[in-house]
Amino acid sequence: MRFTELPRPTRVAFGPGRFAELGEEVARLGARRVVVVTTPGREALGEQAAGFLGDRSAGVLADAVEHVPAEVADAAVARAEELGADGCVAVGGGSAIGLGKAIARDTGVPLAAVPTTYSGSEMTPVWGRTEDGVKATGRDERVRPAAVVYDPELTTSLPVAVSVTSAGNALAHAVEALWAPDATPVTRLEATESARAIVDALPRVAAAPADPAARADLLYGAWLAGAGLAVTTMGLHHRLAHVLGGGLDLPHAGTHTVLLPHVLAWTLPAVPKAGAALERALGGDPVAVLRRLFAELGAPTTLAELGADSAQFDVLAERAVSPPPAHPRVPTAPEVRALLDEALGCAPRR
Ligand code: NAD
Repeated sequence: MRFTELPRPTRVAFGPGRFAELGEEVARLGARRVVVVTTPGREALGEQAAGFLGDRSAGVLADAVEHVPAEVADAAVARAEELGADGCVAVGGGSAIGLGKAIARDTGVPLAAVPTTYSGSEMTPVWGRTEDGVKATGRDERVRPAAVVYDPELTTSLPVAVSVTSAGNALAHAVEALWAPDATPVTRLEATESARAIVDALPRVAAAPADPAARADLLYGAWLAGAGLAVTTMGLHHRLAHVLGGGLDLPHAGTHTVLLPHVLAWTLPAVPKAGAALERALGGDPVAVLRRLFAELGAPTTLAELGADSAQFDVLAERAVSPPPAHPRVPTAPEVRALLDEALGCAPRR
Protein backbone atom coordinates (compact mmCIF):
# COMPACT_ATOMS: atom_id res chain seq x y z
CA MET A 1 0.00 0.00 0.00
CA ARG A 2 1.37 3.40 -0.98
CA PHE A 3 -0.57 6.66 -0.98
CA THR A 4 -0.44 10.37 -0.19
CA GLU A 5 -3.44 11.78 1.64
CA LEU A 6 -3.94 15.50 1.01
CA PRO A 7 -5.43 17.97 3.49
CA ARG A 8 -8.91 19.33 2.85
CA PRO A 9 -9.03 22.50 4.90
CA THR A 10 -12.64 23.46 4.14
CA ARG A 11 -14.87 23.87 7.20
CA VAL A 12 -18.18 22.09 6.51
CA ALA A 13 -21.46 22.81 8.31
CA PHE A 14 -24.18 20.37 7.27
CA GLY A 15 -27.82 20.19 8.35
CA PRO A 16 -31.32 21.54 7.88
CA GLY A 17 -31.65 25.21 8.81
CA ARG A 18 -27.92 25.86 8.88
CA PHE A 19 -28.17 28.55 6.17
CA ALA A 20 -29.13 30.83 9.09
CA GLU A 21 -25.58 30.33 10.47
CA LEU A 22 -24.00 31.93 7.39
CA GLY A 23 -23.23 35.18 9.25
CA GLU A 24 -21.23 33.33 11.91
CA GLU A 25 -19.39 31.28 9.29
CA VAL A 26 -18.39 34.42 7.40
CA ALA A 27 -17.43 36.25 10.60
CA ARG A 28 -14.93 33.44 11.25
CA LEU A 29 -13.23 34.34 7.96
CA GLY A 30 -12.69 37.88 9.21
CA ALA A 31 -14.54 39.42 6.25
CA ARG A 32 -16.40 42.72 6.82
CA ARG A 33 -17.59 43.68 3.29
CA VAL A 34 -18.91 40.58 1.62
CA VAL A 35 -20.24 40.37 -1.90
CA VAL A 36 -22.87 37.67 -2.48
CA VAL A 37 -23.00 36.02 -5.91
CA THR A 38 -25.74 33.86 -7.34
CA THR A 39 -27.50 33.06 -10.63
CA PRO A 40 -30.28 35.15 -12.19
CA GLY A 41 -33.52 33.78 -10.84
CA ARG A 42 -31.99 33.04 -7.47
CA GLU A 43 -31.79 36.71 -6.39
CA ALA A 44 -34.22 36.12 -3.52
CA LEU A 45 -31.85 33.50 -2.14
CA GLY A 46 -28.95 35.92 -2.61
CA GLU A 47 -30.86 38.59 -0.68
CA GLN A 48 -31.61 36.07 2.06
CA ALA A 49 -27.89 35.32 2.30
CA ALA A 50 -27.17 39.06 2.45
CA GLY A 51 -29.73 39.30 5.27
CA PHE A 52 -27.87 36.66 7.27
CA LEU A 53 -24.66 38.65 6.74
CA GLY A 54 -26.26 41.81 8.13
CA ASP A 55 -23.93 44.79 7.98
CA ARG A 56 -21.18 42.58 6.56
CA SER A 57 -23.07 42.47 3.24
CA ALA A 58 -21.70 44.68 0.46
CA GLY A 59 -24.32 43.69 -2.13
CA VAL A 60 -25.69 40.89 -4.29
CA LEU A 61 -24.56 40.07 -7.85
CA ALA A 62 -27.01 37.74 -9.60
CA ASP A 63 -25.02 37.43 -12.82
CA ALA A 64 -23.57 33.92 -12.72
CA VAL A 65 -24.01 31.69 -15.77
CA GLU A 66 -22.67 28.28 -16.66
CA HIS A 67 -19.03 27.65 -17.57
CA VAL A 68 -17.84 31.05 -16.22
CA PRO A 69 -17.62 33.09 -19.46
CA ALA A 70 -14.57 35.37 -19.28
CA GLU A 71 -16.60 38.57 -19.76
CA VAL A 72 -18.99 37.66 -16.93
CA ALA A 73 -16.09 36.80 -14.63
CA ASP A 74 -14.17 40.00 -15.42
CA ALA A 75 -17.26 42.17 -14.86
CA ALA A 76 -17.95 40.49 -11.50
CA VAL A 77 -14.34 40.94 -10.38
CA ALA A 78 -14.50 44.64 -11.33
CA ARG A 79 -17.79 45.05 -9.43
CA ALA A 80 -16.41 43.29 -6.33
CA GLU A 81 -13.42 45.65 -6.40
CA GLU A 82 -15.70 48.69 -6.77
CA LEU A 83 -17.68 47.51 -3.76
CA GLY A 84 -14.47 47.14 -1.76
CA ALA A 85 -15.28 43.50 -1.04
CA ASP A 86 -12.99 41.66 1.37
CA GLY A 87 -14.97 38.43 1.21
CA CYS A 88 -17.35 36.56 -1.10
CA VAL A 89 -20.29 34.24 -0.55
CA ALA A 90 -21.51 32.11 -3.44
CA VAL A 91 -25.02 30.80 -2.99
CA GLY A 92 -26.51 28.51 -5.62
CA GLY A 93 -25.24 25.83 -7.95
CA GLY A 94 -21.87 25.32 -9.58
CA SER A 95 -22.39 28.39 -11.76
CA ALA A 96 -22.68 30.70 -8.74
CA ILE A 97 -19.74 29.00 -7.04
CA GLY A 98 -17.71 29.28 -10.27
CA LEU A 99 -18.25 33.04 -10.33
CA GLY A 100 -17.37 33.29 -6.64
CA LYS A 101 -14.15 31.44 -7.42
CA ALA A 102 -13.32 33.93 -10.19
CA ILE A 103 -13.66 36.76 -7.66
CA ALA A 104 -11.62 34.88 -5.05
CA ARG A 105 -8.86 34.08 -7.53
CA ASP A 106 -8.53 37.56 -8.99
CA THR A 107 -8.96 39.58 -5.79
CA GLY A 108 -7.58 37.15 -3.19
CA VAL A 109 -10.63 37.46 -0.89
CA PRO A 110 -11.83 34.39 1.06
CA LEU A 111 -14.83 32.49 -0.31
CA ALA A 112 -17.71 30.80 1.50
CA ALA A 113 -20.20 28.65 -0.42
CA VAL A 114 -23.81 27.64 0.14
CA PRO A 115 -24.44 25.01 -2.53
CA THR A 116 -27.98 24.36 -3.69
CA THR A 117 -27.20 21.71 -6.32
CA TYR A 118 -24.99 18.62 -6.25
CA SER A 119 -22.10 19.97 -8.36
CA GLY A 120 -19.45 19.51 -5.65
CA SER A 121 -17.57 22.62 -6.76
CA GLU A 122 -17.83 24.03 -3.23
CA MET A 123 -15.31 21.47 -1.95
CA THR A 124 -12.64 21.98 -4.59
CA PRO A 125 -9.76 24.31 -5.42
CA VAL A 126 -10.71 23.89 -9.09
CA TRP A 127 -11.66 26.94 -11.15
CA GLY A 128 -13.04 27.17 -14.68
CA ARG A 129 -13.18 29.97 -17.25
CA THR A 130 -14.47 29.90 -20.81
CA GLU A 131 -13.00 32.07 -23.53
CA ASP A 132 -13.60 31.75 -27.29
CA GLY A 133 -15.33 28.40 -26.87
CA VAL A 134 -12.50 26.82 -24.90
CA LYS A 135 -12.99 26.07 -21.22
CA ALA A 136 -9.82 26.26 -19.20
CA THR A 137 -9.69 24.72 -15.73
CA GLY A 138 -7.00 24.78 -13.10
CA ARG A 139 -6.29 24.40 -9.41
CA ASP A 140 -5.59 27.33 -7.14
CA GLU A 141 -5.82 27.32 -3.36
CA ARG A 142 -7.26 30.85 -3.41
CA VAL A 143 -10.52 29.54 -4.92
CA ARG A 144 -11.10 26.71 -2.44
CA PRO A 145 -14.01 27.81 -0.24
CA ALA A 146 -12.85 28.23 3.36
CA ALA A 147 -16.36 27.46 4.61
CA VAL A 148 -19.28 25.51 3.15
CA VAL A 149 -22.81 25.53 4.53
CA TYR A 150 -24.90 22.59 3.31
CA ASP A 151 -28.56 23.15 4.10
CA PRO A 152 -30.72 20.47 2.47
CA GLU A 153 -33.80 22.68 2.90
CA LEU A 154 -32.39 24.92 0.15
CA THR A 155 -32.39 22.03 -2.30
CA THR A 156 -36.09 21.09 -2.10
CA SER A 157 -36.85 23.75 -4.74
CA LEU A 158 -34.39 22.26 -7.22
CA PRO A 159 -36.55 20.85 -10.06
CA VAL A 160 -36.45 17.06 -10.35
CA ALA A 161 -34.92 17.17 -13.84
CA VAL A 162 -32.06 19.41 -12.59
CA SER A 163 -31.69 17.28 -9.46
CA VAL A 164 -31.26 14.16 -11.60
CA THR A 165 -28.58 15.58 -13.90
CA SER A 166 -26.82 17.34 -11.03
CA ALA A 167 -26.73 14.02 -9.17
CA GLY A 168 -25.30 12.50 -12.37
CA ASN A 169 -22.54 15.12 -12.15
CA ALA A 170 -21.86 14.09 -8.54
CA LEU A 171 -21.82 10.40 -9.45
CA ALA A 172 -19.21 11.17 -12.10
CA HIS A 173 -16.96 12.68 -9.41
CA ALA A 174 -17.32 9.55 -7.28
CA VAL A 175 -16.68 7.21 -10.20
CA GLU A 176 -13.57 9.02 -11.42
CA ALA A 177 -12.25 9.37 -7.86
CA LEU A 178 -12.38 5.56 -7.61
CA TRP A 179 -10.04 5.00 -10.55
CA ALA A 180 -7.93 8.14 -10.08
CA PRO A 181 -4.16 7.62 -10.08
CA ASP A 182 -3.96 9.44 -6.72
CA ALA A 183 -6.88 7.64 -5.02
CA THR A 184 -6.24 6.78 -1.38
CA PRO A 185 -7.98 4.38 1.02
CA VAL A 186 -9.95 7.38 2.33
CA THR A 187 -11.02 8.68 -1.08
CA ARG A 188 -12.07 5.15 -2.14
CA LEU A 189 -14.28 4.83 0.93
CA GLU A 190 -15.76 8.26 0.27
CA ALA A 191 -16.36 7.50 -3.39
CA THR A 192 -18.15 4.19 -2.84
CA GLU A 193 -20.23 5.62 0.02
CA SER A 194 -21.03 8.64 -2.14
CA ALA A 195 -22.18 6.50 -5.07
CA ARG A 196 -24.25 4.31 -2.75
CA ALA A 197 -25.93 7.31 -1.10
CA ILE A 198 -26.68 9.05 -4.40
CA VAL A 199 -28.15 6.00 -6.13
CA ASP A 200 -30.22 5.26 -3.01
CA ALA A 201 -31.49 8.83 -2.51
CA LEU A 202 -32.07 9.99 -6.08
CA PRO A 203 -35.23 7.92 -6.80
CA ARG A 204 -36.63 9.05 -3.42
CA VAL A 205 -35.98 12.70 -4.34
CA ALA A 206 -37.61 12.21 -7.74
CA ALA A 207 -40.67 10.61 -6.10
CA ALA A 208 -40.97 13.25 -3.35
CA PRO A 209 -38.83 16.34 -4.12
CA ALA A 210 -39.65 18.02 -0.80
CA ASP A 211 -38.80 14.94 1.32
CA PRO A 212 -36.23 16.35 3.77
CA ALA A 213 -34.57 13.00 4.49
CA ALA A 214 -34.15 12.14 0.80
CA ARG A 215 -32.77 15.63 0.06
CA ALA A 216 -30.35 15.40 2.99
CA ASP A 217 -29.14 11.96 1.88
CA LEU A 218 -28.58 13.16 -1.69
CA LEU A 219 -26.73 16.28 -0.55
CA TYR A 220 -24.61 14.11 1.76
CA GLY A 221 -23.65 11.90 -1.20
CA ALA A 222 -22.85 14.98 -3.27
CA TRP A 223 -20.65 16.39 -0.49
CA LEU A 224 -18.63 13.17 -0.37
CA ALA A 225 -18.30 13.23 -4.15
CA GLY A 226 -17.04 16.82 -4.03
CA ALA A 227 -14.65 15.98 -1.22
CA GLY A 228 -13.06 13.31 -3.41
CA LEU A 229 -13.01 15.58 -6.44
CA ALA A 230 -10.98 18.04 -4.36
CA VAL A 231 -8.03 15.71 -3.87
CA THR A 232 -7.99 13.33 -6.83
CA THR A 233 -7.13 13.79 -10.48
CA MET A 234 -10.11 13.41 -12.76
CA GLY A 235 -9.76 11.42 -15.96
CA LEU A 236 -11.28 11.03 -19.40
CA HIS A 237 -14.84 11.59 -18.26
CA HIS A 238 -14.19 15.07 -16.88
CA ARG A 239 -11.96 15.93 -19.82
CA LEU A 240 -14.83 15.11 -22.18
CA ALA A 241 -17.36 17.04 -20.10
CA HIS A 242 -15.18 20.16 -20.22
CA VAL A 243 -14.26 19.83 -23.89
CA LEU A 244 -17.91 19.37 -24.88
CA GLY A 245 -19.19 21.98 -22.41
CA GLY A 246 -16.78 24.65 -23.61
CA GLY A 247 -16.74 23.68 -27.30
CA LEU A 248 -20.46 23.08 -27.87
CA ASP A 249 -21.88 25.07 -24.94
CA LEU A 250 -23.66 21.99 -23.61
CA PRO A 251 -25.18 21.95 -20.12
CA HIS A 252 -22.54 20.71 -17.69
CA ALA A 253 -24.62 18.38 -15.52
CA GLY A 254 -26.59 16.89 -18.42
CA THR A 255 -23.37 16.20 -20.31
CA HIS A 256 -21.98 14.32 -17.32
CA THR A 257 -25.17 12.30 -17.01
CA VAL A 258 -25.21 11.29 -20.67
CA LEU A 259 -21.49 10.45 -20.83
CA LEU A 260 -21.11 8.53 -17.58
CA PRO A 261 -22.50 5.11 -18.61
CA HIS A 262 -20.48 5.28 -21.85
CA VAL A 263 -17.18 6.18 -20.18
CA LEU A 264 -17.86 3.60 -17.47
CA ALA A 265 -18.47 0.84 -20.01
CA TRP A 266 -15.29 1.81 -21.87
CA THR A 267 -13.12 2.03 -18.75
CA LEU A 268 -14.30 -0.79 -16.48
CA PRO A 269 -12.36 -3.56 -18.29
CA ALA A 270 -9.14 -1.73 -17.27
CA VAL A 271 -10.10 -1.28 -13.59
CA PRO A 272 -11.49 -4.54 -12.19
CA LYS A 273 -10.98 -3.52 -8.54
CA ALA A 274 -12.76 -0.18 -8.92
CA GLY A 275 -15.49 -1.96 -10.89
CA ALA A 276 -16.00 -4.53 -8.13
CA ALA A 277 -16.13 -1.80 -5.46
CA LEU A 278 -18.70 0.13 -7.46
CA GLU A 279 -20.72 -3.01 -8.08
CA ARG A 280 -20.85 -3.68 -4.32
CA ALA A 281 -21.84 -0.06 -3.64
CA LEU A 282 -24.58 0.03 -6.27
CA GLY A 283 -25.86 -3.52 -5.79
CA GLY A 284 -25.36 -4.58 -9.40
CA ASP A 285 -23.45 -4.05 -12.61
CA PRO A 286 -22.59 -0.32 -12.49
CA VAL A 287 -23.33 0.40 -16.16
CA ALA A 288 -26.68 -1.40 -16.03
CA VAL A 289 -27.64 0.24 -12.72
CA LEU A 290 -26.90 3.75 -14.01
CA ARG A 291 -28.57 3.19 -17.39
CA ARG A 292 -31.71 1.91 -15.66
CA LEU A 293 -31.69 4.70 -13.06
CA PHE A 294 -31.26 7.52 -15.57
CA ALA A 295 -33.86 6.04 -17.95
CA GLU A 296 -36.40 5.58 -15.14
CA LEU A 297 -35.91 9.16 -13.97
CA GLY A 298 -36.26 10.63 -17.47
CA ALA A 299 -32.67 11.93 -17.65
CA PRO A 300 -31.19 12.76 -21.05
CA THR A 301 -29.41 9.68 -22.38
CA THR A 302 -27.97 11.03 -25.65
CA LEU A 303 -25.84 14.06 -26.51
CA ALA A 304 -28.30 14.73 -29.36
CA GLU A 305 -30.98 15.44 -26.73
CA LEU A 306 -28.68 18.11 -25.28
CA GLY A 307 -28.41 19.80 -28.68
CA ALA A 308 -25.06 18.38 -29.85
CA ASP A 309 -24.25 17.36 -33.39
CA SER A 310 -21.16 15.59 -34.65
CA ALA A 311 -19.75 18.36 -36.90
CA GLN A 312 -16.93 19.21 -34.49
CA PHE A 313 -16.39 15.75 -33.00
CA ASP A 314 -13.01 15.17 -34.69
CA VAL A 315 -11.64 18.49 -33.37
CA LEU A 316 -13.07 17.86 -29.92
CA ALA A 317 -11.72 14.30 -29.83
CA GLU A 318 -8.22 15.64 -30.60
CA ARG A 319 -8.64 18.24 -27.87
CA ALA A 320 -9.71 15.54 -25.40
CA VAL A 321 -6.47 13.55 -25.82
CA SER A 322 -3.97 16.41 -25.94
CA PRO A 323 -2.39 16.05 -23.49
CA PRO A 324 -3.64 12.54 -22.66
CA PRO A 325 -5.98 12.54 -19.66
CA ALA A 326 -4.86 10.83 -16.43
CA HIS A 327 -7.05 7.82 -17.12
CA PRO A 328 -6.53 4.11 -16.51
CA ARG A 329 -7.32 3.37 -20.16
CA VAL A 330 -5.72 6.08 -22.28
CA PRO A 331 -7.72 6.61 -25.46
CA THR A 332 -6.64 7.62 -28.95
CA ALA A 333 -8.51 10.41 -30.74
CA PRO A 334 -10.38 7.90 -32.97
CA GLU A 335 -11.44 5.97 -29.86
CA VAL A 336 -12.78 9.18 -28.32
CA ARG A 337 -14.56 9.98 -31.57
CA ALA A 338 -16.24 6.56 -31.47
CA LEU A 339 -17.25 7.12 -27.86
CA LEU A 340 -18.74 10.51 -28.73
CA ASP A 341 -20.65 9.04 -31.70
CA GLU A 342 -22.03 6.39 -29.38
CA ALA A 343 -23.03 9.01 -26.77
CA LEU A 344 -24.58 11.19 -29.47
CA GLY A 345 -27.10 8.40 -29.85
CA CYS A 346 -26.40 7.54 -33.47
CA ALA A 347 -23.97 4.63 -33.09
CA PRO A 348 -24.66 1.26 -31.47
CA ARG A 349 -23.63 1.29 -27.84
CA ARG A 350 -21.19 -1.23 -26.44
P1 NAD B 1 -26.15 25.74 -12.16
O1 NAD B 1 -25.42 26.32 -11.04
O2 NAD B 1 -26.08 26.45 -13.47
O3 NAD B 1 -27.67 25.57 -11.71
C1 NAD B 1 -28.63 25.07 -12.65
C2 NAD B 1 -29.91 25.92 -12.56
O4 NAD B 1 -30.57 25.62 -11.34
C3 NAD B 1 -29.65 27.42 -12.56
O5 NAD B 1 -30.64 28.03 -13.35
C4 NAD B 1 -29.82 27.81 -11.09
O6 NAD B 1 -30.26 29.14 -10.94
C5 NAD B 1 -30.87 26.83 -10.65
N1 NAD B 1 -30.83 26.46 -9.23
C6 NAD B 1 -29.74 26.20 -8.48
N2 NAD B 1 -30.12 25.81 -7.25
C7 NAD B 1 -31.46 25.82 -7.23
C8 NAD B 1 -32.44 25.48 -6.25
N3 NAD B 1 -32.09 24.99 -5.06
N4 NAD B 1 -33.74 25.61 -6.58
C9 NAD B 1 -34.11 26.03 -7.81
N5 NAD B 1 -33.24 26.33 -8.78
C10 NAD B 1 -31.93 26.24 -8.50
O7 NAD B 1 -25.74 24.23 -12.45
P2 NAD B 1 -24.69 23.24 -11.75
O8 NAD B 1 -24.82 21.99 -12.52
O9 NAD B 1 -24.85 23.20 -10.29
O10 NAD B 1 -23.28 23.92 -12.05
C11 NAD B 1 -22.68 23.87 -13.32
C12 NAD B 1 -21.41 24.66 -13.33
O11 NAD B 1 -20.56 24.25 -12.24
C13 NAD B 1 -20.60 24.48 -14.59
O12 NAD B 1 -20.07 25.71 -15.01
C14 NAD B 1 -19.49 23.53 -14.15
O13 NAD B 1 -18.34 23.62 -14.94
C15 NAD B 1 -19.26 23.96 -12.74
N6 NAD B 1 -18.65 22.93 -11.87
C16 NAD B 1 -17.41 23.20 -11.34
C17 NAD B 1 -16.81 22.28 -10.51
C18 NAD B 1 -15.47 22.61 -9.89
O14 NAD B 1 -14.96 21.87 -9.05
N7 NAD B 1 -14.87 23.73 -10.23
C19 NAD B 1 -17.45 21.06 -10.20
C20 NAD B 1 -18.70 20.82 -10.77
C21 NAD B 1 -19.31 21.77 -11.60
